[in-house]
Amino acid sequence: MSSLAAVQERISAAEIRAGRTEGSTHLLAISKLQPLDRILRVLDHGHREFGENRVQEAQQKWPELQERYPEIDVHLVGPLQTNKVRSAMQLFAAIHSVDRIKLLTRIDTVAQELGHCPRLFIQVNTGEEPQKSGVIPDELDTLVNQARRLNLPLEGLMCIPPSHEAPALHFGLLTNLAKRHGLRGLSMGMSGDFETAIHLGATYIRVGSAVFGVRPR
Ligand SMILES: *Cc1c(COP(=O)(O)O)cnc(C)c1O
Repeated sequence: MSSLAAVQERISAAEIRAGRTEGSTHLLAISKLQPLDRILRVLDHGHREFGENRVQEAQQKWPELQERYPEIDVHLVGPLQTNKVRSAMQLFAAIHSVDRIKLLTRIDTVAQELGHCPRLFIQVNTGEEPQKSGVIPDELDTLVNQARRLNLPLEGLMCIPPSHEAPALHFGLLTNLAKRHGLRGLSMGMSGDFETAIHLGATYIRVGSAVFGVRPR
């Protein structure tokens, strides 16, 4: 059985245990730094939802594959610089790393030029770690309000828990924040903790190494 099939089985089992509808969790296969043959294998198994953490790396990889497999959706899960917003919006179906007003302003400008906008997730720094991107929970209100004022397609929230803490605490916090703001999208859970994330309501899990194997350095 492929790693993809094994992950899909674990997702279904976790959904059933949590009393959720089977298939209600989207699996983003995080393909950053993975060799092309591994990506093709996952595509040939019929998987179509992928995630990348760098705009430039994704640009070099996905437009060509999208010509062969037109239904591919690629999501940006890594940090976004203002000067890359246009290329990001042309490539990605969703951006999971919105974390400042300036980015929303730029996204709004480009959305008006392009006539479309990817679905957006606000990244929340739930552990309030200084080195990590994301808004701190206290500043989330401002960002949500601004996204709504600009009429942008805000789908939900995203977090990456601190590596040394129980992820469930952070997933629970993110779930509560999303509820409070009436947002239904929750992007949380990676290879080591996606079952916990599903239990706490994830709509998108971002799984790299469990699907593709360990990333080559
Ligand atoms: C790399 C990455 C993942 C996937 O990590 P794995 O541990 O390989 O599953 C998920 N989310 C983000 C933001 C990442 O950069």
